Amino acid sequence: MANALESLKDRLFDVNALNVAAVIMDWDQQTYMPKQGSDARAEHMSILSRMAHEMFVADDTQRWTESAQPTSEDDEALIRIVKRQLLLKTKLPSRLVEEKMKASVLGHEAWVNARANNDFNAFAPVLEKLFDLSREEAECYGYSDDIYTALLDIYEEGATAGEVRTMFDAIKGPQVELVKAIAAQGPVDDSFLHGEWDTAAQQKLTLHYVKAIGFDLERGRQDTAPHPFCTTFSVNDVRLTTRFKPYLPSSIFGSLHEAGHGLYEQGSPKAWDRTPLAGGVSLGVHESQSRLWENLVGRSRAFWEWGYGDLQNAFPALKDHSLDKFLKAVNRVQPSFIRVEADELTYNLHIIIRFEIESAVLKGELAVKDIPDAWNAKYEEYLGITPKTDSEGCLQDVHWSMGSIGYFPTYTMGNLLSYQIWAAMQADLGDLDALIAVGDFAPILNWLQTKIYRQGSKFPPKELIASVTGKPMGAEDYLAGLGAKYRNLYGI
Ligand code: ZN
Repeated sequence: MANALESLKDRLFDVNALNVAAVIMDWDQQTYMPKQGSDARAEHMSILSRMAHEMFVADDTQRWTESAQPTSEDDEALIRIVKRQLLLKTKLPSRLVEEKMKASVLGHEAWVNARANNDFNAFAPVLEKLFDLSREEAECYGYSDDIYTALLDIYEEGATAGEVRTMFDAIKGPQVELVKAIAAQGPVDDSFLHGEWDTAAQQKLTLHYVKAIGFDLERGRQDTAPHPFCTTFSVNDVRLTTRFKPYLPSSIFGSLHEAGHGLYEQGSPKAWDRTPLAGGVSLGVHESQSRLWENLVGRSRAFWEWGYGDLQNAFPALKDHSLDKFLKAVNRVQPSFIRVEADELTYNLHIIIRFEIESAVLKGELAVKDIPDAWNAKYEEYLGITPKTDSEGCLQDVHWSMGSIGYFPTYTMGNLLSYQIWAAMQADLGDLDALIAVGDFAPILNWLQTKIYRQGSKFPPKELIASVTGKPMGAEDYLAGLGAKYRNLYGI
């Protein structure tokens, strides 16, 4: 008789194959699938997801997990992860799982239409249902301090609502101050980056940059999608997407962002492939890597000292604009309505607003029908602007329509962690700008691979962060780094 550990691993490979089939279908849907394919695709994917779920929570998977005898640290970690996933997945009655899946399919459809027609009322009943189901889900998981914690923990193991509040309290004041000081400098002209840019040239250039930072194109590729994302089929097959808009930085920084996710995924040990040990450990840590490569590397002066010449050669119109001007333009700070287009500095204010609203609705302190008013009041309070429509206000993000409630704070965690990890790397490697300025990204990538990427999901996020940076997640490196960067850039 095969031992329990081997049987468990075989089961995990089976579950992985079904999941990956669904992931490939999803990637295809977002890149190449003809529009009319969506109905059948939704059926195919939901059947595969159900099969994977049933196979994973089956009695024998649970039995093998309980009786497996780990003989290595890696196997111990594997069993810990599987136990946590089983706990999360088996705590929900299957009626709730099905209801949630149905509500999120309907929710997504209702949201697409509501956003197109600027009609929040049409979306409200579905959203109310999604919040009800999330509340029920949180009750199933259980929590001690705050209902929000139960949902947040799905995305960021061990994080609590209290920690999120502390994090936001620490950054809110200094960020609003800095935004004001920058605004007092007058507007930055980035009009020269708007316009039509040759798509083939952008394609070539973005590939050049992602390859330069170390993304392995023999083990991945880049395609285009309306909303850029990164997805993993295996350690040796990681897919990036980017988009081409009439604003040149969109594809460049979109590509660098997704390549940051991709580098993390490509860095998992081959031996862990197709198991839950491979891949990024949490949404917050994952986002720290996309933001690190996008902002700390990609938006630095050093990066463009190295890379601006190539950009100017690809787009000769840029030869009329100095490096200084370009650098200021791609780091332009400007309160705006749309989160995904927000600059590095105002981005977190968008997240705080979503967190405060989610939390209030979950606790019954805010009715779903009152979300638009609450949303607009908070945009006025934090960013000094009021959305003219709900489409550019509370209807802009996809997350709630899919029932992803409790997810947003991980974006801000990623921002904080990117600076905290950067500070730790700088302490080890010294002058990082000197490396970047000559296009020598290998020492940076090697450091991240050793400390983070090769650890996959082996350690819980808090443990990983403490071992990489020597302390728990905090705001000090982030605030110090951002302050220095923008004071430098604006001479304030
Ligand atoms: Zn990301």
